[in-house]
Amino acid sequence: MQPAWTLLANAEIRDDIIAAGADMLRAGASAADVAERIARDVEDDPNEHTVGYGGKPNIMGEVELDASFMDGDTLKAGAVAALKGFAHPISVAREVMKRLPHVLLAGAGAARFAEEIGAERRDNLSPEARQMWFDQLERMGLREQIFQGSNSMPDAKTLFQARVKDVIGAVNQALTVKEGHDTMNVIVRDAKGSVCSAVTTSGIAWKYPGRVGDSPVIGAGNYADSRHGAAACMGLGEITIRLAIAARAVSLMRAGFSLQEAGIDVLNDMQPVIGQSIAEHHMARADWVRVLIMDRHGNVGGFATRAGLHYKVHTSEDAQPQLREAETL
Ligand code: ASP
Repeated sequence: MQPAWTLLANAEIRDDIIAAGADMLRAGASAADVAERIARDVEDDPNEHTVGYGGKPNIMGEVELDASFMDGDTLKAGAVAALKGFAHPISVAREVMKRLPHVLLAGAGAARFAEEIGAERRDNLSPEARQMWFDQLERMGLREQIFQGSNSMPDAKTLFQARVKDVIGAVNQALTVKEGHDTMNVIVRDAKGSVCSAVTTSGIAWKYPGRVGDSPVIGAGNYADSRHGAAACMGLGEITIRLAIAARAVSLMRAGFSLQEAGIDVLNDMQPVIGQSIAEHHMARADWVRVLIMDRHGNVGGFATRAGLHYKVHTSEDAQPQLREAETL
């Protein structure tokens, strides 16, 4: 028998956050409300250094957040890119969907909108993430040049701008270091069969200011259509944007592919593009993608371009989230 509801998420999300979402589904909450709740809880987690508060900053020490929200019943979507200074980009993204005839707001416009709707403000650079940034500058031999002995500059970005002229060079140097990076993906199918997906991230650490990844790009890092299924991505956004991976996975299921066939097909599509990316020195640190897919019945799968990546699934039949390993080619 098919479970009444299914929740699919990336493995990096804490079990208690997923279990709280499962409790909401058990109590009859909608897929949309559960997806937003889980994303907000991850955005609040200071130990998650790739999402929301505590996320690693861009090369200039600013946390710029990307998020998107898609309602698979209506095909409506909302997204924000390079948003600074607000606590819950996922909720701002959902409000873009509800209040504007637009899908994606970026930078200053996204912040203006967040301000106008009264979204909670927050300086998302945690002390730990700031220290990670200092350590990164140290490894690159830039810390002394920028801070000249002091750790506690009130406006580190101004100093960075004044003292580092070759920001392109700094980003290319930073991205040669291989380092973990994640995105929060959650796809929920509720008891009514509505599918909703939410994606939120601080993107790739030490990125060029204004760099936008795949997470807020509908069709690349996120896509949901209750009639066919949903997909969400983690990993190198520059790959999934170029191949429109999330929309492609759902389109394949629409065309009659099984979830499994769709997952393997998108991995095959990404293989040569990842290979080319690895060959390019500057993105060598971030050479993988993991795609989570749910079909319209609530069956799930995870597919990754490298081994050792996991995801979590929690259905109405489970007492707790189940950890599974993503398939590879
Ligand atoms: N997909 C995200 C991005 O490219 C980052 C990640 O998942 O690691 O912004």
